[in-house]
Amino acid sequence: MDFEKQTVVVIDDEPTTLLMLESAIEALAHVITVSDSAEAFSVVAKTQPALVLLDVSMPGLSGFDVCEQLKSYANTASIPVIFITSHSDSEHETTALALGAIDFISKPIDVTLCRMRVKNHLTIQAQSDMLSTMNGKLEAEKKQLDVTLRSIADGVISTDASGDITFINPVAQRLSGYSEAEALGQPINVVMNLRDATTNSVMLNPAIYALEVRRPVAMAYNATLVSRHNQIFRVEDTASPIIDDQGNLLGAVIVFQDVSEAVEMAVKMTHLTNHDQLTGLPNRVLLHDRVMQAITRSFNAKQSVALMLIDIDNFKYLNDSLGHQVGDFIIASVAKRLSAAMGDNATLARVGGDEFACLLTDNGMGFSADSIAMKCLQKGREPIEIDGKSHQLSLSIGISLYPQDAANAEEMMRHADTAMYRSKSKGKDTFSFFSHDLQHAMHHRVETEICLRNALDNDLLAVYLQPKYKFSCNDVISAEALVRLFDENGNVIGPDAFIPLAEETGLIHLLGKQVLRKSCEFVAKCNTKGVDLKVAVNVAAKQLADPGFATEVKQIIDEAGIFPSSIELEVTESALMHDFEQTRTILNSLASLGVTIALDDFGTGYSSLSYLRQFPLNVLKIDRSFVIDMDKEQQAYDIVTAIVQLALSLDLSIVAEGIETKAHYDSLQELGCHYGQGYYMCKPITLDSFFEKYIVKSAVA
Ligand code: C2E
Ligand code: CA
Ligand code: CA
Repeated sequence: MDFEKQTVVVIDDEPTTLLMLESAIEALAHVITVSDSAEAFSVVAKTQPALVLLDVSMPGLSGFDVCEQLKSYANTASIPVIFITSHSDSEHETTALALGAIDFISKPIDVTLCRMRVKNHLTIQAQSDMLSTMNGKLEAEKKQLDVTLRSIADGVISTDASGDITFINPVAQRLSGYSEAEALGQPINVVMNLRDATTNSVMLNPAIYALEVRRPVAMAYNATLVSRHNQIFRVEDTASPIIDDQGNLLGAVIVFQDVSEAVEMAVKMTHLTNHDQLTGLPNRVLLHDRVMQAITRSFNAKQSVALMLIDIDNFKYLNDSLGHQVGDFIIASVAKRLSAAMGDNATLARVGGDEFACLLTDNGMGFSADSIAMKCLQKGREPIEIDGKSHQLSLSIGISLYPQDAANAEEMMRHADTAMYRSKSKGKDTFSFFSHDLQHAMHHRVETEICLRNALDNDLLAVYLQPKYKFSCNDVISAEALVRLFDENGNVIGPDAFIPLAEETGLIHLLGKQVLRKSCEFVAKCNTKGVDLKVAVNVAAKQLADPGFATEVKQIIDEAGIFPSSIELEVTESALMHDFEQTRTILNSLASLGVTIALDDFGTGYSSLSYLRQFPLNVLKIDRSFVIDMDKEQQAYDIVTAIVQLALSLDLSIVAEGIETKAHYDSLQELGCHYGQGYYMCKPITLDSFFEKYIVKSAVA
């Protein structure tokens, strides 16, 4: 304790007493002496000493008068006063105590005693000073805490050890709907009505739990606070028990926040990431989730799950030609219709541009994927109004089932896609189930494509020739080139297995070129033997649609060094239906080169003769489907008769293909056909065999 800083004022009219007192206590305090009692008050008021030593008997103002003066002013009232009395003054002690004195020092002064008394009083004074500053500090801290708790944005409630409220801040009052006066003394679970956000069941108040377990606890994740006025807030909080140094439980405090906005935001965000903006439907991410859940559930329940993939037919065309806004409109309308077609146990999702997926789960009653698919197809066909015009759409659907044909979500998606592709190739506006045959076919397709690309890259395609017999003399002066592919085991793959694929993938251009080149080279080889062979080469629709086709043909013929008249190009009716003007231009330039044009598969298309006559045709090939039935069915025979007559009247050369029997041969010869081609005479054979069988012989002859 720092006595140096304490001041003692000594008031006495006797200089000797003053001197003695000063010397007695100067080691303990800073001493100020006053000999004129009239100045006493102002000195004390100014210096604010820790202690005043005051002589009772003084001329003028007596010690009592001074003491009275000091006690009557606030800034001096609490300063302790010790009276200095002589024995004669002893009767005045009662008066002195009544005036507020705390002690007496008697004259004559005993220095040691005096010093001890002053020292004790100074110590007491110092301690009381310290106590009052500490009190003041505590008070200030308490105030600050109070202000803080009242002004923070969190709700704060504290309770006593039995859970009754002792403090509630304004935020907690607002959220609970209870005023401070209403809340104080109430059990906390009455004021804080906490409920589970999903089930609305009452939740244990964490403050009560904290009191029970004597450690901090956090509120359950999905808590809501229902206010007295039935307002609902999402809240998040923590509660702590209040335990003193001795380990006594004094109460609990709970701090909570209104997170309604944050939760709403989070819900919105998850909705956004899981849903498609345009249709509001779940997106691929959410669907995948649901499929996985459904698979797990159905695995346990031994039930089935179906995944339907739904694609809008020709959407790309509509979108490109009518604009993206219309495209969006179409997607939104289809989404609406599909939603209407689905039952309760279905999840419809938008998984891509114009692709939807529907997850069907068995809710115990079973489900029929066929009937839902049928409903969807029907909904898809309903006319849709675009710019005042009615359009008709259609859908293609693929269905995959778990556990029947897929082991997991990814496989379901893939297989539904395969099945959807099947619907497209069946002609759209239909649905298909995935099957292992289908998967096999898809596999096969991929393998064939690899094989075909390899053959094209390495010049491994083979051309077979099937001779055409001239009915009048039974001679062979022409043949049809038919392409062959070999698989890795060297087995022959027929063109029906890869020509459509080549057309889809665009490989047909390269394929056609190679077949034509090989055919021309073979003709050149025959020419060196002095044999003038004519080879007919098949041309696909896509090739005819290529503006550079005629130039390409000319170049290949020129490179082989043969006459263009040695080459015939077989085109189908459907190829001619593509783009009238362009096809005619190309055929005209081909004709002017000197190659001849044959119309293949005649009778299978629907084109009128007047239409066909506008093209430079030289030959008409009767499709083998008519030839094969002509000896069994009168109708087929009649058709062949009509075709032959028609061709003769148009001055076209006639080739009948697919002659398998002598009866076919005889009938066609009788009808006046010019050429015949078929297994009855000869199957398609390799170039070498053909050379051996037909060229070498005739060269010798
Ligand atoms: P296509 O032009 O109608 O060719 C005639 C098909 O009939 C050939 O089948 C031939 O082998 C077959 N055929 C011949 N005689 C008979 C017979 O007596 N009975 C039966 N049942 N069939 C007979 P292939 O070689 O399998 O060719 C199938 C189709 O593939 C061809 O039909 C043609 O459209 C296409 N194709 C063949 N090679 C090429 C080519 O190099 N380019 C293009 N674009 N298509 C080709
Ligand atoms: Ca042909
Ligand atoms: Ca044909």
